[in-house]
Amino acid sequence: MSIALASVPTITLAADAYMLMSIWKPVLLFAPFVGWAWMISTVLDKHAQRFFLGQEKWNAIHIIFGVAALILVVALPVSGIAGFAAAFVGSLIILGLDILIFVSITNKDTKVPEGERLTLNMKDMSESREAKKAAKQIGSSELNIVGANKITVQPPPKDTPELGIRVSAEQIVIKGFEAHASQIDILPANESTYAASYLVDGVRQAGDPIAAADAIQIIDFWKKAAGLDVNDRRRKLTGQVTVSGGSISSAELKLNTSGSKSGMRMSLIFNPAQAVRRKASDLGMLDQQLDMVKNWASELEHVGGTVLLCAPSDNGRTTMAYSIMKLHDAYTSNIQSIEYEIEDQLEGIKQIQWDSSVEGPDFATTVRSTLRRDPDIVSICDLPDVETAQTVANSDLERTRVYLSIRTDSALKGIQTYVQAVGDPKLAAKGLRGVVACKLVRVLCGNCKVPYQPTPDMLKKLGLPEDKVSELFKKGGQVLVRNKPETCSVCAGVGYSGQTGCFGIFPIGDEERAMIIEGNWNGLRAVMRKRGLPSVQQAALRKAVMGITSIEEVTRITAPKKSSSSKATAKA
Ligand SMILES: [Zn+2]
Repeated sequence: MSIALASVPTITLAADAYMLMSIWKPVLLFAPFVGWAWMISTVLDKHAQRFFLGQEKWNAIHIIFGVAALILVVALPVSGIAGFAAAFVGSLIILGLDILIFVSITNKDTKVPEGERLTLNMKDMSESREAKKAAKQIGSSELNIVGANKITVQPPPKDTPELGIRVSAEQIVIKGFEAHASQIDILPANESTYAASYLVDGVRQAGDPIAAADAIQIIDFWKKAAGLDVNDRRRKLTGQVTVSGGSISSAELKLNTSGSKSGMRMSLIFNPAQAVRRKASDLGMLDQQLDMVKNWASELEHVGGTVLLCAPSDNGRTTMAYSIMKLHDAYTSNIQSIEYEIEDQLEGIKQIQWDSSVEGPDFATTVRSTLRRDPDIVSICDLPDVETAQTVANSDLERTRVYLSIRTDSALKGIQTYVQAVGDPKLAAKGLRGVVACKLVRVLCGNCKVPYQPTPDMLKKLGLPEDKVSELFKKGGQVLVRNKPETCSVCAGVGYSGQTGCFGIFPIGDEERAMIIEGNWNGLRAVMRKRGLPSVQQAALRKAVMGITSIEEVTRITAPKKSSSSKATAKA
């Protein structure tokens, strides 16, 4: 836009001899044109372009007004100070009218969002300029985001608040990826703030707080990208996007969003199918434990009965259930699973999703109707109520194998929970065949772990043989590069990379059954110990001795739990 600038030399045509004698008068006459041209080129023209308001049409209109003002200045016949004043005020009115008409018409245009309408208030304008400047400083979009129906989500234009939100939304994901997080959660912390947190190898790390208004827009951004209904702020919605760019070569992100009175919450799960896709032999079971589980699944051993799968939240229960189901032959056996969320498609296995937010039969009824169809193997993802336990205990466990997942942190507690829920110790014990307990420890980063010699006192406390353990490892986080310590690039300075399971696996035989019926838990513990099978804690200690994990990790997973356990995620 250079309408006014082109007209500059002609202004002097209006000047009569009187005016030419003084410098300030032509400058004053020139001023409205400069202001008007600046306004058009920096604000109005960009506005028209950004919201598709007919940029060319408006330019034509501006030219007409500009020319009209110019004609007035040139042609006004009055000479002297009166002529000058009339020319000045007249051109000011014409040029001002042009701007006024543009603002009032375009503000009524539905293409312009409410927050983006122009205002003639100078204070507001300078505020909006500040906001744009801030948006510029925020940075630029780095990620390629492919959402629903394989559609790429284009970054918004520069200088817009939408870009700021996009950049913030991306930064949260980039930060999570670089920290090797498996999951990112954003949920309300208090009335005005949301909190982001990152789940890294099963340990939650706090992120930066986010202003509530921004957090909601960030959640909406990801929902929109995944093709979810942004206006549905209550129900649980699930979607998926693929992100790449920057430090991320390519990652699938699963979105879970829901809302409550306190606000919205969102979980972003990195590569969800990969996370639960492990062979039983890769879960971290000790050799004898793996043999036992394989035996339970083998054709020769295949008899019915219930096997309890016990692990706290976020300790690989889903992965464990999937891996054990995959030990069975899906072609010769009828295998079914009942799950809250189908996290990976299992070949040959009928996976039934049960969703609490959808009207229909309750969990126990779904379990009952599945068991009635005489499947060979059924995996049940949770024990949410006593009816489910009673349904399992009363089913034909002579021929059906049931893997029942229980959210608890030990084999003994799993048995107690199940027996209590069934309400009849004899009936519960009759069908029990085994119990598997699992907790995850973090694996020491092989690039930076630090060896040390444990003291005899420490070994004694841990119950480890003094003569056999000469070396243990602790986390590092730093490596020496040319004799200078630097942050380890493999684990990003955390000292750990990845997780492995520590298992306690016990068959339930007649001796154990008798103790369960008596409710003699100390006796049951003694019987289990007598078999010489490692518990979760012992398995974890063995992994520390092997240099896979640290004593700190063993202590972390076996120490009594603090009462304020976060219920941030219901994911198993
Ligand atoms: Zn490292």
